[in-house]
Amino acid sequence: MAVRARIMLLTEDSGKQGQPTVHKLLKEALKVLVQGVDLNPRRIQIEPLPENDRARQAVRATQWKEQPPPREVPILLGAIAARLLEPGFVIFHFDTDRVWSERHTSENRKKFESIIRGGVRRILRGEAPLPIRPGPPPPQRTAEQIEAALERLLVLSPCYSIESWLYQATTKIREHCQKTHASEEHGKLIDSWTADRRVLEEVFRPKDDALPCVSDHHNEQLAQTFPAEEVWLAERSFYEFVETLRACAPLMNALGHEEAVSHCRGLKQRAH
Ligand SMILES: [Zn+2]
Repeated sequence: MAVRARIMLLTEDSGKQGQPTVHKLLKEALKVLVQGVDLNPRRIQIEPLPENDRARQAVRATQWKEQPPPREVPILLGAIAARLLEPGFVIFHFDTDRVWSERHTSENRKKFESIIRGGVRRILRGEAPLPIRPGPPPPQRTAEQIEAALERLLVLSPCYSIESWLYQATTKIREHCQKTHASEEHGKLIDSWTADRRVLEEVFRPKDDALPCVSDHHNEQLAQTFPAEEVWLAERSFYEFVETLRACAPLMNALGHEEAVSHCRGLKQRAH
């Protein structure tokens, strides 16, 4: 079986549930994109950085945002550049730390563009040294080749945080809340999220302020019942992510482009 796409999936969430949770959400996004998509891992390879990789240190513990950059950051930039040149894909998860209506003020989004995308661009241009490797120097690349590679570096940045997506699994959330305490206030809040899928994206610090009773204890399980199509139709940050993937022509080709277009039309017709 031929590999169609190799996707390096990076998450700043260093908890044990972080990587499997984001992996599951990505698969749900791909299913919204292409109905019946074949996600056989031998065909679409979605991989984390190896556990002992120093580049992984830079993603986790949010080191990548720090100034001056820790020593691990150039290693991370090199790993991203190498995957893009294969040519493969890199999907980078960080929280926006802003509600949807204030996403334009997200420092994390700005820092990603300047530190990560800007840093990888400098490597691809040959302006920043890569770790020394044996063999001939890397070939010169045109500006078009560099920008084409950078288009395969894709951002997954929920508003406000990854819990803003996961709490959309409102049936499960209610169970976990009720197991902890009998809160009528929380019950009403969760009802409002079910009634209008846009509401959660305007909730500030959902994990810490809205539902500390649930927090991030069940993230991996919540991802299993994430109502992807409904949340996509709400046209907030999950929609933004899915559409970022859709705009990436090489990824769509790898997944099966024609089916994707017809599925998108079908969903939109159902919505109106
Ligand atoms: Zn509660």
